[in-house]
Amino acid sequence: MEIKNRIEELDAELKRYAREYYEKDAPTVSDREYDLKYRELEDLEREYPEYASADSITKVVGGSIDASGLGKITHANKMYSLADAFDVDEVRAFDAQVARAVDDKYEYVAELKIDGLAISLTYENGRLVTAATRGDGVVGENITENVKLIKSIPQTLSEPLTCEVRGECYLPIENFGKINAAREGKQYVNPRNAAAGILRQKVDKDETIKELDTFIYAPGEIAGLSVATQEAFLEKLVELGFTVNPNRIIAKNIDEVVKFIEEMTNLRDKLEYDIDGVVIKVNDFDLQDELGFTVKVPKWAVAYKFPPEKKDTVVKEIEWSIGRSGVVVPTAVMEKIRLAGTSVSRATLHNAQFIKELDVRINDTVTVFKAGDIIPKIEKVVLAKRPQDSKPLELPTHCPSCDSELVQLEDDVNIRCINPKCPAKMQEALAYFVSRPAMNIDGVGPALIASLIETKKIKDVADLYKLTEQELLELDGVQEKTANNVITQINNSKQNSAERLLAGIGIPGIGAVVAKTLLAHFKNIDTITKATEEDFAAIDGIGEVHATTLKTYFNHNESLELLEELKNSGVNTEYLNDIETRESEFTSKTVVLTGKLTTFTRDSAKELLESLGAKVTSSVTKKTDFVVAGESAGSKLAKASELGIPVLTEEDLLKYV
Ligand code: NAD
Repeated sequence: MEIKNRIEELDAELKRYAREYYEKDAPTVSDREYDLKYRELEDLEREYPEYASADSITKVVGGSIDASGLGKITHANKMYSLADAFDVDEVRAFDAQVARAVDDKYEYVAELKIDGLAISLTYENGRLVTAATRGDGVVGENITENVKLIKSIPQTLSEPLTCEVRGECYLPIENFGKINAAREGKQYVNPRNAAAGILRQKVDKDETIKELDTFIYAPGEIAGLSVATQEAFLEKLVELGFTVNPNRIIAKNIDEVVKFIEEMTNLRDKLEYDIDGVVIKVNDFDLQDELGFTVKVPKWAVAYKFPPEKKDTVVKEIEWSIGRSGVVVPTAVMEKIRLAGTSVSRATLHNAQFIKELDVRINDTVTVFKAGDIIPKIEKVVLAKRPQDSKPLELPTHCPSCDSELVQLEDDVNIRCINPKCPAKMQEALAYFVSRPAMNIDGVGPALIASLIETKKIKDVADLYKLTEQELLELDGVQEKTANNVITQINNSKQNSAERLLAGIGIPGIGAVVAKTLLAHFKNIDTITKATEEDFAAIDGIGEVHATTLKTYFNHNESLELLEELKNSGVNTEYLNDIETRESEFTSKTVVLTGKLTTFTRDSAKELLESLGAKVTSSVTKKTDFVVAGESAGSKLAKASELGIPVLTEEDLLKYV
C-alpha cells in the first residue's frame, strides 16, 4: 500500500510541476529535483507495474495545451521526448542497449541539448505554412504567426520542398537579461521559461518574439529530402536556410561521445545560450527505424543531462532584514555569477544558527548551487581560499530598523526584534495583511505602506480602516483617483469572509489554509478567541503547535483589542464562505468572466471558480491571471490579449465540475 501511495503521490506532484513548467512557464522546482522524482517514479513503476496508472506522467509527453488559448495543430507524426542519462555510466548503458539491438556497425551524432522549447515547422512547396509547439506530443499549439517574426526561421526555403522539420526555439542569454530588465511585474525564472512564455503568447507582433532564436535539428516528415543520416540531414538543413548548431561530432564509438561530453561541459559557460546536456543519436535513419520508439521516447537516442551547476563566488556583505514576526533574516550578498540559467548575487543564510554552523565570513569564497528549488543556496565555505585576516562574523545586537536590542530565545535558531512598534516589522506585517492570501487589498503596495508608516498615519493593521482619502492625498505622489481607489478597496475588504482576517493578522504559522480550517469549524472569530487548546487540537488539520500558538496569541489582551478595533471599524469576523474550496490551478488567482456563457450562468461560473480558490473580479488588469471568455466577448477579451493574459473557454471550466 505504501508503494502504491508513493507512486500516486509522485505522479500527482510531477504533474503539478509539469503544469507549472509547460503551461505557465513558471517552474517552482529545479529541473534536477524534477528529474530525480521522475526517475524514482519510473523505477517504482518498473518494479511494481500493477500500481502504475494508465495516464502516468511517464507515459505522456509534455503538458496539456489548454491553458495558452492559442489554436491547436495536430502533428503529422508524434513529437517525442528523450530518455535521460544522468552520468557517463548511463550513457554507456544506452550504448550497450543499442549494440544488443542492432547487428550492423553504427555511429552516433552527438549534439548540444539546447535549453528551449521544441517547435515544428511545416513547409509546402518551400513556403512556411504552419508552426506548432510540441504540446502533448500529438497536438501542439498554433504559433505560426509568432514564428514568422523570428529572423532565423526562413519563410521560404532555397528549394520548393514539402517537409516538416523540428528544432529548438530559445532565448539568447543577453536578450533574457534585457527582457527581464524591461519587464514589469513577475520576472522570468530563466531563459527557457522566458522563451516558452514569449513564444506562447497570444499576441500578434509582440516585439519580444523577435529576440528569440532557433536551432533546427530533427526531421518530422522529410520524404522529399533524400537524406539517409542525421548528419546529412543537418547539412541539408543549412542548405535550405535553417540555422543548425555547429557544435556536434560524428562519433565512431561511445568513447568519442564521452570525450565530446567532457568538452561540451567546459564549453557550456562560454556559449551565448543555455544548454542542459548533450543529445546522442544513432546517425543512420534505417537503424533508427530498426530501433523504434517507446510510447514516450526514441530508443535510438539519449539525452545526457549536465549535473546541477555549482560555482564559487565571494561573499561581499551580509544583509540583515526584519521579517514579519520580527525574525532577523540574513542574506549573503555575493559577486554576481551565472548559475543554472540565471544571474545570482544573493543567497539566503536562513538564520543565526545556520550562519554559526556554516561559519561564513565576509570575503569568504563559497560554493553556490541550486537544489530543491530555484533559489540559490550556499553549500560550503572554501576554507582554502579564506583570507588570512578573516574574522568570524559578528551577529547584530540591535535591530537594523528600529535599533532596539535583539533577543535570542532559548532553543530558537533565530534572533528577533521584539519591539512591537518596529517599523520594519510593521511594514512586513502590513504587506502580508493586504496580500492575496490574506485580506487581498489591491492598490496598497509596499511603497504606500512605507510612506504611511513613515508619516505615522498608521501603526498597525487596524489603522488601515481609519484612513481617510484626505490623509492619503497628503502623501507624496498620491492622486485623487488613487486615493479614492485605495479607500474603496480597503472598504470592500471589510466584507471578506473571516478566514482572510485570521490569516492576515500574523499569528505565527497560521496561514490561509489553517485559517480556513478554523473558520469552517468555529464559524466566527469570537468563538475562536475563546476556544481552548484542546478544542483546537481536536480539529483535523490543526496540530499541537498550532493549538499552543493560537492559545498564546489570544491570551494577550493586545490581540483581543486589535480584533475588537477591527470589528468596530466594520471588518467582518464571520465565516461567509461555506463553499468547500479545492486546491487547483486557480487557487489564489484572479479571474475575469466575460461574454455570454451558455453552459454556466454567471453566478454558477463564479461559484465554481471560487470553490477552486479563485477571486473573481470584473475588470481586466495586469493583475488578472485568467480570463474566461464566452460568446461575443468584446473589450475585456481584447484587453486580455493585449496584456498576454491566458484566455479560457467554458469548456476549460467544465472539467472541474
Ligand atoms: P527533455 O528536455 O529532457 O528532452 C527532450 C527535448 O530536448 C526535446 O523535446 C527537445 O525540445 C530538446 N532538445 C534540445 N536540443 C535537442 C537536440 N539537439 N536534439 C533533440 N532534442 C533536443 O524532455 P522534455 O520532455 O522536453 O522535458 C522534460 C524535462 O523538462 C525534464 O527532464 C526537466 O528537466 C524539465 N522539466 C522541469 C520541470 C520543473 O518543474 N522544473 C517540470 C517539467 C519538466
